[in-house]
Amino acid sequence: MKVLKFGGSSLGTPERIRGVKEIIKVQPLPCIVVVSAFEGVTDNLLRIAELASRGNSDYKAEFEKLVNNHKEFANALLSDPVDLNNASGRIEVISNELGEIFRGFFLLRESTKHALDQALAFGERISSLIISLFLDGSLLEDSRKLIKTEGKPGYSVVDFKATNELIRSAFEKTDKLTVLPGFISSNHNEDTTTLGRGGSDYTAAIVAAALKAEILEIWKDVDGFMTADPRKVEKAYTIENLSYSEAMELSHFGAKVIYTPTLRPVFRENIPVLVKNTFNPDGRGTLINNKPVDQGPSPIKGISSIDHIDLVSLQGPAMVGVTGTSARLFGALAKNEVNIILITQASSEYSITFAVKPSDSELATEAISEEFAAEISRNNELRILVEKNMSIIAIVGEKMKNTPGISATLFRSLGSNGISVVATAQGSSELNISVVIRNESLHRALNVIHDGFFLSRIKELNLFIAGTGLVGTSLIKQLQQQLTVLLEEYSLSVRLMGITNSRKMIIAPKGIDLSNCREILKSEGEKADIAEFIERMKRMNLTNSVFIDCTADSKVAVRYGEILGGYISVVTANKIACSSDYLYYKYLKNTAAEKDVRFMYETTVGAGLPIIKTISDLVLSGDKIYKIEAVLSGTLNFIFNEMSSSLPLSKAIKKAREKGYSEPDPRIDLSGTDVVRKILILAREAGYQMEQKDVSVSKFLPDNCFSGDLNDFYSKVETYDAEFEIKRLELEKLNRKWRFCATLDQGSAKVELVTVGPEHPSFYLEGSNNIVLLTTERYRELPMVIKGYGAGADVTAAGVFADLMRVVNV
Ligand code: ADP
Ligand code: ASP
Ligand code: MG
Repeated sequence: MKVLKFGGSSLGTPERIRGVKEIIKVQPLPCIVVVSAFEGVTDNLLRIAELASRGNSDYKAEFEKLVNNHKEFANALLSDPVDLNNASGRIEVISNELGEIFRGFFLLRESTKHALDQALAFGERISSLIISLFLDGSLLEDSRKLIKTEGKPGYSVVDFKATNELIRSAFEKTDKLTVLPGFISSNHNEDTTTLGRGGSDYTAAIVAAALKAEILEIWKDVDGFMTADPRKVEKAYTIENLSYSEAMELSHFGAKVIYTPTLRPVFRENIPVLVKNTFNPDGRGTLINNKPVDQGPSPIKGISSIDHIDLVSLQGPAMVGVTGTSARLFGALAKNEVNIILITQASSEYSITFAVKPSDSELATEAISEEFAAEISRNNELRILVEKNMSIIAIVGEKMKNTPGISATLFRSLGSNGISVVATAQGSSELNISVVIRNESLHRALNVIHDGFFLSRIKELNLFIAGTGLVGTSLIKQLQQQLTVLLEEYSLSVRLMGITNSRKMIIAPKGIDLSNCREILKSEGEKADIAEFIERMKRMNLTNSVFIDCTADSKVAVRYGEILGGYISVVTANKIACSSDYLYYKYLKNTAAEKDVRFMYETTVGAGLPIIKTISDLVLSGDKIYKIEAVLSGTLNFIFNEMSSSLPLSKAIKKAREKGYSEPDPRIDLSGTDVVRKILILAREAGYQMEQKDVSVSKFLPDNCFSGDLNDFYSKVETYDAEFEIKRLELEKLNRKWRFCATLDQGSAKVELVTVGPEHPSFYLEGSNNIVLLTTERYRELPMVIKGYGAGADVTAAGVFADLMRVVNV
């Protein structure tokens, strides 16, 4: 015997029900099919009951709509007029009964639990009727005659002895296909009762256990029991095999896929449960049994959560060393039928904290206030504290028992994403660890925990790029070329999640194709707004998020604090932030350290050359930087190397701009500002607290060249072309060359145009190259030399790329 259960999510439309028939058709007989109400019907019934009992006459129209809906299902599914007639007659009778109940609610302005159960039964009574007529050759049984409950309405429990006997005698000799309504039952007075929301799963399990079925199949709209709720964690995937205990623990802590009490009866009888997808019947689904096979490296099987709980604490000195407090506390709660979801006690015994549904919170506080009235009134020896808007997350897995470091992974995932844990509990079986966090962090918390436990093999890097100029474009190209290598050889999955330039922006939760992201930005992007871009990036809350600044824009640079503060690393080629006020620079470094993210800016000096990293490593290892002598402007070096009798200064500047060596505005280079920023960044890296004003600059072009716009600049420079050509010829005769040099010596910095002869290391500095000489305590006689391309989009982009790899330790 097989028992199959189809839930509301599999019964949403007549079309879907036809799909269900295909699944049932191939089952061996005898077979029992348990069905829920059609999708959304129970929710609707509750809503209509609520309207009626509030005296809102709109309930009538809603009720009629619901009845008509069912008639439409019958019309669509039942082609035989006899069947249709039969169904219509029964629907009429059941609806009239229901109409009477709602009318009663409306007149009395209230609904009793008992009458509500009768109303809710409508959904399953009619769905089972229509489906049994639709499935040729099937019989319909009324579960209310088979499943008996006892206890008061709302708190009733199954009387297994009576139920098992009734079920066994009903099905002992059957060789047919039987349809049973889920969810509904009756008490010993023959009043209709229900098994709780989602209770059709339970009906099916009770029947399967009573008949010792070979298997219970629960058919859903998902591929099985998943590692987390797929509506909350996009990357959740199907778990192949769970033990009963694991599945029970997950569903107890909120995995809505199986109604919590369901597994108990089948567990007792050791009946395997298969959770399958109606929309993908060929999928393997999830097998729940008592001997799950080990599946891979993760020590946990799944994560579940309950949102919106209240955390109630009883705390104060009266708890310490006093025996019996817990007994009194939980006794009082039990007496008042408060259901406790989780308990945790500080080892100091100073407080006991427990979680309840918000609807139980008031009752809980009243019950304890009464029980401990004396202590509470005695000068605050005890206090009750209620914290609202909390969520519980539980990680579950039998393998946790033998694996150290689980809590560490859990807390690291949360901590490094800025999520604080309000309370924590560990089941004594070590099958689960639960944490209580604030509701607003739930979504992010579930995702980071999921990544931490299930995706640790493949690391994800989520990129948000600002700037699509030369460097940005080159970076995108390099990333695209390396995607496969990074994934296959370094297990690093790089995704572009957002991109913006000064005109447009786009943020895509599913990622943006790197190969045509610039076109997508152009055609689909919305108006750029850096504040909004950052806000959305933060809201996405992705692990390993990196903001990459490939602009030269101060409007972007002022935002780094906010970005790092939102647990997002910053990689920048933009010099502005690091060379602005020392306090801001320091604040950015501190924020990055505090939030455990990276702030990387290697390419702000010397493009892709490892200058900052080298200085930082020297300082870290205890070396002292005495002197830095450097040619740091690739642009200026290029200009002075290129100048000739046929290429005067003004034309050499234009050529540097065209080749992409200069800043977008070359005046930044020509005025010395660019080099001032760079030597300042190096000085700070070497440990000196300096500001821009502390760097003295001697300009080689007069100040008047820099007033006006860029065209004015070029034409003003032209007037100096001849003068520079005369000086150039003189230098050529003397075998000397111009070098725009930055020096940091014992804490004082200057930037100036000097001339050097062949004895100086910078004499042979070609093209746009940079050179840095570091004189340190260890490199005293012979300075360390770093030399190479110091400008250019490709090498700068490569430097940004290298910084990115360091963010994820690749
Ligand atoms: P039915 O009404 O058919 O019984 P439910 O809607 O009650 O189905 O349960 C299925 C839904 O449970 C899925 O659509 C999914 O959104 C949700 N769900 C929550 N947690 C999980 C999980 N861990 N695995 C699978 N589904 C889950
Ligand atoms: N129809 C009931 C509900 O929605 C029972 C079920 O679907 O399992 O709660
Ligand atoms: Mg359900």
